[in-house]
Amino acid sequence: MDIIVNAIVLKSVDYKDNDKILTLYSLEKGKITAGIKGVKKSGAKLKFASEPFALCEFVLAEKAGRYTVIGATYIDSFFNLRLSLEKYYSSSIILETLNLLTAENEPDPDLFSLVVNAVKYINYQGVELKILNGFLFNFITILGYGIQTLNCNGCDSLIDGRVFFSGRFAEFYCSSCRIDDAMEITLETYLALRKIFNKTIDEISKSTLKRQEEIKLLKFLTYYLQLKTEINVKSVKSLIDFIS
Ligand SMILES: [Zn+2]
Repeated sequence: MDIIVNAIVLKSVDYKDNDKILTLYSLEKGKITAGIKGVKKSGAKLKFASEPFALCEFVLAEKAGRYTVIGATYIDSFFNLRLSLEKYYSSSIILETLNLLTAENEPDPDLFSLVVNAVKYINYQGVELKILNGFLFNFITILGYGIQTLNCNGCDSLIDGRVFFSGRFAEFYCSSCRIDDAMEITLETYLALRKIFNKTIDEISKSTLKRQEEIKLLKFLTYYLQLKTEINVKSVKSLIDFIS
């Protein structure tokens, strides 16, 4: 039986002489893998649909639980991502994180639109780091590790001096209430987090984060995500090295 899915290519690996195996993140079925035949031959008709970042409507043939791409139409190639290293790394981190932290066949329309929206902003506008931070913040919430409040967990007030954060409990503390488990983070990181806290990608795209704040936030959010999920997103280091 043939099915149609709207999906973005997360990963594409060579298979046999001319084929590839794609990891797709789709609206309808969540993450799935699908073979695509003959795409390494020159002039192959479906070559475009086997490139990472391609957002397409895919026609898949299903046989014994395996999918093969038999047709595809571009929704967007996100071509600009290949023209700037900052765009490329930022969107690669999104796709890599998504691939590492989602299971197959678990559709999540909110997550799908978060990803597509984030990649769109990065492709079309110069707001790469803002959007990457916005994606990570929202993805962390979707994964169930969301930080509930920025108020001090002891005295319940917003913090304006030294700031301490317990990754284990996802809680902030002021210097009077701090617990041993909490480590100090800079006030700048905390204030940057306040600017994106509980905001959508669209809101975050218009926020007034400075470059330095964006970098601090990226380090904080990836530290926290790695602590919670034990994943190591390799492209984060490349991006931070590149922009620092
Ligand atoms: Zn306190």
